[in-house]
Amino acid sequence: MRTPIPDYLEKILDVVRDEDGGETAGYIPELAAADPERLAMAICTTSGHIYSAGDAEVEFTIQSISKPFVYAMALQELGEHAVGKVVGMEPSGEAFNELSLDSFDKRPVNPMINAGAIAVNQIINGEDSSVEDRVEKIRKLFSRLAGRELTIDEQVRDSELSHSDRNLSIAYMLRNYDIIHDDAHDAVTSYTSQCSILVNTRDLSVMSATLANGGVQPVTGERILTPTACRLTLAVMSSAGMYDAAGRWMSKVGIPAKSGVAGGLIGNLPGRLGIATFSPRLDPQGNSTRGVRFFERLSHDMDLHLMSSDSYDAAGVRSIARDGNRTIIRLQGMVNFLAAENILYELAGEPLGGEEIILDVSRVTEINRVGRRIVKEGLRRLREQGFWCGIYDPEGLVSNLKYADGTFAHKVESL
Ligand code: GLN
Repeated sequence: MRTPIPDYLEKILDVVRDEDGGETAGYIPELAAADPERLAMAICTTSGHIYSAGDAEVEFTIQSISKPFVYAMALQELGEHAVGKVVGMEPSGEAFNELSLDSFDKRPVNPMINAGAIAVNQIINGEDSSVEDRVEKIRKLFSRLAGRELTIDEQVRDSELSHSDRNLSIAYMLRNYDIIHDDAHDAVTSYTSQCSILVNTRDLSVMSATLANGGVQPVTGERILTPTACRLTLAVMSSAGMYDAAGRWMSKVGIPAKSGVAGGLIGNLPGRLGIATFSPRLDPQGNSTRGVRFFERLSHDMDLHLMSSDSYDAAGVRSIARDGNRTIIRLQGMVNFLAAENILYELAGEPLGGEEIILDVSRVTEINRVGRRIVKEGLRRLREQGFWCGIYDPEGLVSNLKYADGTFAHKVESL
């Protein structure tokens, strides 16, 4: 049985495909020329299950999505105190390229916009590091996070460097206040190289899932970042990741996120999921137009808002047991999107024998709208494979036994 999750993702992609507002980033010629029709999404669970749809293998430059990862790296290398000397952890509510400093101590306040990110980039590998060594260190860490060797798009980097007066002025301002000490041009080259690392949507979902997983890459199992560095980074992303749209984003979508001007967008549900989308047209805040729509839909359809009381994690399957020609699948706990994903992942991997499949939901405490939809779809797919499928539901939790195609699951009166 194939789990229905990729089909749901395809469906949401089709819904957002029509959304063609916004434009590719105009201030970097190479990005302005990107194919605006590209569209991809991927999610990676902290158990390492990856689902994707659309152009998920197409590469693009990471841009500002590099900021949370380099910030986490700095926290890990130098500790919160040393990082706090060059950058605060407040949402600035400003555009990404704002010449912005705290009016009192002249530090950049937000590590998720350029001023803060240029300051953070400078402390990686020591202030005296050459640009090459620092960038190589960042590229290597990103490669481990993605689980494959990543490269730098030198054309995009050079294209941006030839139009970087704005970032140069930020670097001069940081030098003026003694926050950074390198030559301004070198500082911007170092930061722009970090932004020019090539990733695909699938990579970003895994990188984001590593942050969600306390620093252990969920596919390779490698510990890359400390839980503290991840926790602090996610905390900053939750309030400051979407520039001047950060507050609205948190209330409407409720998923800590970070966007980049090449069209990437990552979202993060701590302990559960890394999510990534790619679509190059940007809204006035510089966030991917379709990406924003996609996250709004996903959060609503799958009940993923961080502040929603039924978005917590749940195991789902209690046991799978064979009894004569029946396989009995016992579910447990709260069945939400995350539990349903887990249930169907297990069922898709398990060779189910016999002729009958009974889903026993008598130990389920609650099943929400999306949990019910996904689990029933799984059962319908098992029926398509030739199994007789029934639900044992003495409390009437599933209430409506109708499948998406209008047919019904059988009700089992006793076990
Ligand atoms: N390299 C870009 C810049 O500094 C990154 C900005 C972004 O992705 N928002 O302008």
